[in-house]
Amino acid sequence: MAPPKYKVKDIRLAKKGQASYEWARDHMEILDSTLGRLKRSMPLKGVTLGFCLHITKETAVLLIGAKELGARVAACSGNPLTTQDDVAAFLASRGIHIYAWAGQNPKEYDWCIDQVLSHGPSVITDDGADMNVKAHFDGRFSKMPILGSTEETTAGINRIRAMEKQGRLRYPVIAVNDADTKHMFDNRYGTGQSTIDGYLRSMNLLLASKRVVVAGYGWVGKGVAARCRGMGSRVMVTEVNPVRALEAHMEGYEVVPMSRAAPAGDIFITCTGMTGIIRKEHIDKMKDGAVMGNVGHFDVEIDTKYLLKKSRSVREIRPNLDECVLKNGRRVYLVGKGWLANLVAAEGHPPEVMAQSFSNQILAILHILNHHKKMENRLIPVPVEIDQSIARDALAAMGIRIDRLNAEQAKYGDSW
Ligand code: SAH
Repeated sequence: MAPPKYKVKDIRLAKKGQASYEWARDHMEILDSTLGRLKRSMPLKGVTLGFCLHITKETAVLLIGAKELGARVAACSGNPLTTQDDVAAFLASRGIHIYAWAGQNPKEYDWCIDQVLSHGPSVITDDGADMNVKAHFDGRFSKMPILGSTEETTAGINRIRAMEKQGRLRYPVIAVNDADTKHMFDNRYGTGQSTIDGYLRSMNLLLASKRVVVAGYGWVGKGVAARCRGMGSRVMVTEVNPVRALEAHMEGYEVVPMSRAAPAGDIFITCTGMTGIIRKEHIDKMKDGAVMGNVGHFDVEIDTKYLLKKSRSVREIRPNLDECVLKNGRRVYLVGKGWLANLVAAEGHPPEVMAQSFSNQILAILHILNHHKKMENRLIPVPVEIDQSIARDALAAMGIRIDRLNAEQAKYGDSW
């Protein structure tokens, strides 16, 4: 069956979404200038692109930009809760085939991905690999001709790598997340800020003096820990990787196992991308009033089944904040039902940082279109030239000039 043109919550929200889009675009200078440069040659003319990304005002700048370069664009959300409904309505009003609304059940979420794939995209841009998994293992789509894909996030890359290892990848996937101009900025400073934003919108409590437990010290954990410290919190870090634990310790954080952190923390933020980080035995030891939430990939880092199903009572005390009364009588609080707090309770990363991520995306998509014949069916890094040119553009956009090696230095650098 042919997919409907679009499906959103309420098309009448388009005007509000347009204002949001314009605000984001005005703060995504490097994406705007990258798109502007490309526009002269209309490199996406006649190409169908499929996107599975959080539907936010920043993503709107990417999708409208791709359309302006000539593409037919179909899109859905990579998460059932994070769609900004006004932005989705605006995209629909601009001729994007969008299937997204906030608060989907798993069946609806699946249906939206199916609709995008039914448009027959040549390239897929994914966040978390749900669309790519479908394009590989769902019989309806597994033979569709797809030239390649780009992946936005760490957890998605882990899944693609597992597929590659088993020899199951049927087209090349560019690891956009692993570009320096992506993870060093988006994952660290983007998540650092948007996590504080999400926690504050949901709980609005003082961060100064609080003991904040950050689980996981990857790029996301580093950003979250640094920003919490900046707000005056006392930060504890939990880790399993000895190098990262050492790094956190040298940075001045208190490194402890979760069993020690659980009874000590006031606020918990999981950033691991792993599963089962805060479990029943930890929750039962928490202080009355402890607040916990997750900014890692999936809603599996906190045992929310135990919290939401086994508590004596649960009520939404504020938007995106559930109060759970445990059997031991203590009250603990869960932000955004354990889904990405920074995208569910706030709006995700700010535009300036997404401009870097999405410049990588658009250039990676073009790279696939131009080079797919020579690319192997593997996980492929973003070409260094792309990374460097984005960093240069970002510096220029911020009015920062840097030195260049002179001839003598270049020669020195090349000698032994
Ligand atoms: N599909 C996963 C995604 C993990 S979220 C899930 O929903 O569980 C992490 C990703 O969200 C990051 O890689 C980041 O690039 C992206 N992101 C953060 N803020 C965003 C925004 N404002 N718009 C679009 N994507 C955003």
